[in-house]
Amino acid sequence: MALIQLIYLSSLSDMKLESEIGKILESSVYHNKESGITGMLLYSNGNFLQVLEGETAAVEETFERICLDDRHCDIVDLIREPIEERQFSQWSMGYQHLSENYIRSFPKYAPFFKFRANDEAIRAEPGLALELLKQFSVDNR
Ligand code: FAD
Repeated sequence: MALIQLIYLSSLSDMKLESEIGKILESSVYHNKESGITGMLLYSNGNFLQVLEGETAAVEETFERICLDDRHCDIVDLIREPIEERQFSQWSMGYQHLSENYIRSFPKYAPFFKFRANDEAIRAEPGLALELLKQFSVDNR
């Protein structure tokens, strides 16, 4: 069966919805286990960066559902490509909440967390998104 990896950025529709993140994660873990999806969700100051990996149909179906969720907006699809093997196989959906201070200490990645202003820069180097997700997936902040 063909595996794909999909990486996107989005923003909370309203900062008041930050309190929803726990529910989003609980629901993600439940559904992703059912669908054989693995991945990682990073959040900082109103912005999300997520990787989903799994069988093509399962990832596409999950991403369609995620796109319909009005708790976030400005969804920017960065990478959608076939993979030989999973890179986040240990998580149905790993999660890290990164503080603004912490992000500031990694200026290379800062554009991902204020991406509306940096959309073109991010699109020019989509490979950095995967690097960022991998970096924070092992660094327990
Ligand atoms: P739900 O109400 O969640 O599920 C429908 C039914 O599933 C429930 O009625 C219940 O029978 C069962 N169910 C759900 N959760 C549980 C549980 N914890 N225990 C037992 N039964 C349960 N969704 C994903 O699936 N994967 C993701 O990776 C993902 N990432 C997201 C990232 C972001 C930034 C955002 C904003 C949302 C994300 N979501 C993700 C959530 C997604 O947008 C949908 O809200 C979610 O998939 C729920 O869809 P649903 O309509 O099936 O509703």
